[in-house]
Amino acid sequence: MIYSWQHEQWANLMQMKQAQRLPHALLLYGEEGSGKSEFARSLAASLLCRQPADNGEACGQCDPCRLIAAQTHPDLSILKPVPPEKTKSTRPVLNIRIGLIRQLTTKLTSTSQFEGYRVAIIEGADRLLLQAANAMLKTLEEPGSQTLIILVTSRPYRLPITVRSRCQGLRFPQPGEAVALAWLQSQGAKTPEIALKYAHGAPLVALKQQDETLEQRQLLTRALTAAQNGESSLSYAAKLASLPRHLSLSWLLDWVSDLVRLKNTAGTVSLINEKDRNYLQKIAHKADLKKIFVFHDLIIDYIREESIALNPQLTWENLLISWDSL
Ligand SMILES: [Zn+2]
Repeated sequence: MIYSWQHEQWANLMQMKQAQRLPHALLLYGEEGSGKSEFARSLAASLLCRQPADNGEACGQCDPCRLIAAQTHPDLSILKPVPPEKTKSTRPVLNIRIGLIRQLTTKLTSTSQFEGYRVAIIEGADRLLLQAANAMLKTLEEPGSQTLIILVTSRPYRLPITVRSRCQGLRFPQPGEAVALAWLQSQGAKTPEIALKYAHGAPLVALKQQDETLEQRQLLTRALTAAQNGESSLSYAAKLASLPRHLSLSWLLDWVSDLVRLKNTAGTVSLINEKDRNYLQKIAHKADLKKIFVFHDLIIDYIREESIALNPQLTWENLLISWDSL
């Protein structure tokens, strides 16, 4: 599927395809949630499909397309970061290890099953461990004819320069607000403006999060505005403690960045928590910038210490007390 904000990148690649000038290795990079992985899959499908449409998109009907849909196409490999084998950790570090890359390079050097393209997609390519990245260099340089390796990442700077320099980069910026809102509306989003703000402008994240987390975010809003409403914020600590820790702390960081924006900008400034602008303005008015930065560091500390078993309710009590005394 090609999203409405990806037409330019798509048209460029389709021109290259027609002229038989496609590179061997592409690096799709850009903001999280802008649909790079979906684009990579569409590109792979377009190359493997027997009768693509006029705009180059796969037909979805032919044998190769059916195999792609069933995730069994022999000439398409999709790699993702995985946890280490036999890990006991509940939050293991996901990586792409050398074993996976060796399997991939072997596959890419064998003959194509359909006598056409062989395509490999490496998602989360910044998670390639160094050894794995090194094992891939030769294949990236001379992958053989009709082979395309597509690396996808939102953190291209984490890839070794040896890998980056062997790929042709294709950037995926976040779509403009109007385009993203129109798309969210077409997908049936109920509160597209709020969802898009919360997702920092990433439409796919906005769509995914809106139902799951809107209520949870509202809980945080009530806690953070409790003091303004003559309530005790601490009564929310237990409920906040039951939310996914990483998410709820990152939402709190959104509030802090909004405060900093309001403190530092004289004119009108765009906020993540736009709908709570009135509250934020009141808090910004009384808050001390130095305290806001200390509070910011406190949240970062809590985020980093997530592996340590901290009592979540105490964490939130501490955070709410600090928030109220900014
Ligand atoms: Zn097809």
